[in-house]
Amino acid sequence: MNPDAKPILVVGGGIAGMTAAVEAAEVGYSVVLVEKEAFLGGRVIRSYKYFPKMCPPSCGFEINTRRIRNNPRITVHTLATVEEITGTVGDFRARISKIPRYVTGNHSLDDTITEQLGSERPDEFNMNVGTTKALYYPHDTAWPPLHVVDREALSDADMLTLTETAPPGAIDMGMSAEEFAIDVGAIIIATGWRPFDAANLENLAFGQCPNIITNLMMERLAAPGGPTGGMILRPSDSEAPRNIAFVQCAGSRDENHLPYCSGVCCMASLKQARYIREQDEEAKITIFYIDVRTIGRLESFYHDLLEDENITFVKGKVAGISEDAGNNLILDVEDTIAGEKPAAQFDMVVLATGIVPNTADVPIPLDLEYDEFGFLDGGTGVEGVYSAGCARHPCDVSTTTKEATAVALKAIQDLNR
Ligand code: SF4
Repeated sequence: MNPDAKPILVVGGGIAGMTAAVEAAEVGYSVVLVEKEAFLGGRVIRSYKYFPKMCPPSCGFEINTRRIRNNPRITVHTLATVEEITGTVGDFRARISKIPRYVTGNHSLDDTITEQLGSERPDEFNMNVGTTKALYYPHDTAWPPLHVVDREALSDADMLTLTETAPPGAIDMGMSAEEFAIDVGAIIIATGWRPFDAANLENLAFGQCPNIITNLMMERLAAPGGPTGGMILRPSDSEAPRNIAFVQCAGSRDENHLPYCSGVCCMASLKQARYIREQDEEAKITIFYIDVRTIGRLESFYHDLLEDENITFVKGKVAGISEDAGNNLILDVEDTIAGEKPAAQFDMVVLATGIVPNTADVPIPLDLEYDEFGFLDGGTGVEGVYSAGCARHPCDVSTTTKEATAVALKAIQDLNR
């Protein structure tokens, strides 16, 4: 082991970045983990359950945060982004900027303080289903376990309320942005993904009909910590839906949007069909698909659902969705196997939207080789810089953790050359 090795910079604190950080640190290497959000966990911590085991991600997340907390070789910066990278393998310099949290962490804050505020912001953690106060705790299992102030959402009156009601020293509205540089030997890009914006699918009427939701919104509706306390309810009337459609490939495998297969949304819908069936054994579900892509060991999960008489699979691409006076949805779709248009009225529709790499919107400040969609698929084109998880290609959690472990090893090899 090279005693003079510089740290590994891991960009992104979701499951890929957390895994790479702990794997490298636990064999003795220093890691700097940079995350743009106020907490670690990325997309995975927003999920209700993993497929195929149907266990909550919070268990593995708890273990990973404990490994990070207990390892002095890992430095975590949240609310932080990498602004510039210069240098070469073994000797990079990264410029990091951090926006202020305005919460010192010196005193605990509770709901009696947040409830006094009138200022609200969209609840990003819950996919904008509902709002939070401008001073908020990101989610139940947030790490670091700290509130955050959304300065843009906070009114002047509420800023005064905060300074008067919070324990002295708990809030510091004078905090300013920080910028600093670090020297690192290798870099792992684990910046993850965002969901394809369903508002781009005008024919599928997302945003026009309240009972059309996305698969990520469904994860939050089903989660006990979500906006409905874990009850899957129709947004229009808060009634339990009895007849639900899933529209697969919503934006994916479409030359007008994402030409590629997003890889995980077939399994996500099958998993969510189980969420619904677990809450209501009478609920009827129809899944409209082009192909059902469940490979390898995931195939049995699909076959189990084929046995469920309340779940119907229809091969057909949904061309359009309209709404009746009761906020029910009518789908325009042809069953390509039966060669006919089925009666297709539902009380809720879930769009299986796909994966867009965050690097498509915000490239890493280094001259890397992206594919045409913004993924760092394969090599990055720069020695000492690696990618893992959905920064690299659409993939599930199992693949992500294996890739993160593999690139941690590649980074360690660079440090020992
Ligand atoms: Fe379509 Fe399934 Fe591929 Fe997602 S995983 S893009 S739903 S085929």
